[in-house]
Amino acid sequence: MLRLPAFALRQPSSVAEAVALLADLGPGAKVLAGGTDLLPNMKHELVTPEVVVSLARVGELRGIHREADGTLALGALTSLAEVAASDEVARHAPALAQAAGLVASPQLRRMGTLGGNVLLDTRCRYYNRSFFWRSALGFCLKKDGTECHVVPGASRCVAAASADTVPALVSLDAVLEIEGAAGRRRVPIEELFGSDGAASRLAPGEVLVSVRVPPTPPGHRGAYGKLRERGSIDFPLIGVAVRLDLDAGGRVERGDLVVTALAARPKRVARAAALVGTRPGSPEFHDAVRDVAGAAHRQCSTLANVPGDPVWRREMVPVYVTRTFHAAGDGGGPIHHV
Ligand SMILES: Cc1cc2nc3c(=O)[nH]c(=O)nc-3n(C[C@H](O)[C@H](O)[C@H](O)COP(=O)(O)OP(=O)(O)OC[C@H]3O[C@@H](n4cnc5c(N)ncnc54)[C@H](O)[C@@H]3O)c2cc1C
Ligand code: SF4
Repeated sequence: MLRLPAFALRQPSSVAEAVALLADLGPGAKVLAGGTDLLPNMKHELVTPEVVVSLARVGELRGIHREADGTLALGALTSLAEVAASDEVARHAPALAQAAGLVASPQLRRMGTLGGNVLLDTRCRYYNRSFFWRSALGFCLKKDGTECHVVPGASRCVAAASADTVPALVSLDAVLEIEGAAGRRRVPIEELFGSDGAASRLAPGEVLVSVRVPPTPPGHRGAYGKLRERGSIDFPLIGVAVRLDLDAGGRVERGDLVVTALAARPKRVARAAALVGTRPGSPEFHDAVRDVAGAAHRQCSTLANVPGDPVWRREMVPVYVTRTFHAAGDGGGPIHHV
């Protein structure tokens, strides 16, 4: 049984109060949302904050609403269970609803928040371990060591982006609203992720306020595919978010494909444009999906950073891309085999 190290708990009741508190406390403080990632990481002594600032009492961070221009605004503290169950999200952004519904297990989706999922730390089979386990290996580049055990000689950590909702949000062009001591800013979600798995996503003292999904057209379809070992609990071995925007005649106007659990950031596969002009269910659509799946296989390299044989995981990329595109074309999904 791993114990939580001692820490002081602060519970602000507004975003402004949380930001002021974080500025006051400095880098020794850490934000807590649902705690389903932070608390295990504290038990593993991967992060050791002296003070934890819980957002649980900040009511303005909860809830889902549609704005006048059609943007769907999701408060950072909205639970994944609520995102998965929302009719509004299922209509506006089906890939997001499906991805949220496949995170972890029912209990973790009730505690875990959308904001915490977006800010989920990158994961690695050599890092998400107890202090004792990591010390036996001599630690690693991401914390306390100098070597990367995945890519020997690497100068940067290649731990994997592993949040299920992020590829869906990238395909939806989501924008993050963030507040810090310098005020509020909006950042396209893609800009949050760099190539270093050890880098922080937010500037010190910032709070993620909401996730904003721009309006999707009436013919929007999307789906999420997740490869994992068990039907529950496990993080993605591969996560595939697809987007199809159909015109009034039912032909693809925009196709998009984002794959995660490869390296520190999700990967957008450029060849999804091959789908434009095809009609789901037609032979042309089948051919275009096959082309895109082939491009994904070439462009997505898998590493031994997460569990599962990397060669097998790479072979599963085109399989999941194909099935997830066909599911989206049929207005279905998610794709999730156990
Ligand atoms: C057994 C197990 C299985 C899991 N399986 C999956 C899975 O399949 N897929 C998946 O995606 N995740 C999985 N998770 C991880 C986790 O449950 C989810 O990612 C969840 O969404 C994290 O949200 P949280 O609110 O609990 O985040 P927390 O743990 O509270 O926070 C996560 C990080 O984000 C920061 N943070 C959170 N909210 C804010 C905010 N508003 N502003 C600033 N910083 C913030 C925290 O400081 C922390 O660094 C699993 C976890 C466990 C324990
Ligand atoms: S990818 Fe390398 S540096 Fe990063 S956590 Fe894994 S072993 Fe450590």
